[in-house]
Amino acid sequence: MKNSRRRFLQIAGVSALGLGAKPVLDAFASEGAAGAGYHVAKGEDALSAKQWAMVIDTRKLQTAEDLEPIIDACNKIHNIPTAIENKNHEIKWIWDAHYHNAFTDKTNNFLDEEVEHRPFLLLCNHCENPPCVRACPTQATFKNDNGIVMMDFHRCIGCRFCMAACPFGARSFNFRDPRPFIEENNKEFPTRMKGVVEKCNFCAERLAVGKLPACVEASNGAIAFGDLYDEHSEVRELLKENYTIRRKQTLGTEPSVYYIV
Ligand code: SF4
Repeated sequence: MKNSRRRFLQIAGVSALGLGAKPVLDAFASEGAAGAGYHVAKGEDALSAKQWAMVIDTRKLQTAEDLEPIIDACNKIHNIPTAIENKNHEIKWIWDAHYHNAFTDKTNNFLDEEVEHRPFLLLCNHCENPPCVRACPTQATFKNDNGIVMMDFHRCIGCRFCMAACPFGARSFNFRDPRPFIEENNKEFPTRMKGVVEKCNFCAERLAVGKLPACVEASNGAIAFGDLYDEHSEVRELLKENYTIRRKQTLGTEPSVYYIV
């Protein structure tokens, strides 16, 4: 058993005795970035929000080539393995799909042809009411006070209840050790291990030091990011001015990713 896992079980035992999750998380944080405790230390320039949200203007992202730099930026920064021979080994933080697969509750047989062939960026929706968080037995996935649904890789026991609970397929499981398949290792972000679930984190580590998410930076203005509860934020302005849709809205999870179509 890896040391980090053993440490999890020791600390989880303490937690079960009634000390609660906070000391557990702090204990992992104190192990440092190399231990992948996934503690996001806020700097002086940290960006804050009540609920971070994203508005993707899909009219500006018409082809797979438009999406490529956005997906690449995320993959590189988050050490996502890209050498995939077996579909089971695919790790997705942000990916693309066609309208019929992305908006399964909004399809019709006579869709505008251009929209039908447009690739849509998909990612974790950082739902305001996230079923994945409720399903996790170890609180390895939890909602931050800025609305981001986070993953603590060390607390994940690989049960995959969160994957079953997420109706958006936004989570991936490491069926193999991903480390040998990472093209360029970014030392600033923890790598994961076999048996752990992962997903998009809205670049919490970048927001903590005053930077926007990598996909937003790489999008050439096609993706806006801001506080859903700040009426003057860019995302609120865009929501006011444009008709937007969200994925599987009727399920009541309240996705924080909006699409201008
Ligand atoms: Fe959880 Fe899925 Fe919603 Fe992300 S999209 S918060 S993984 S339910």
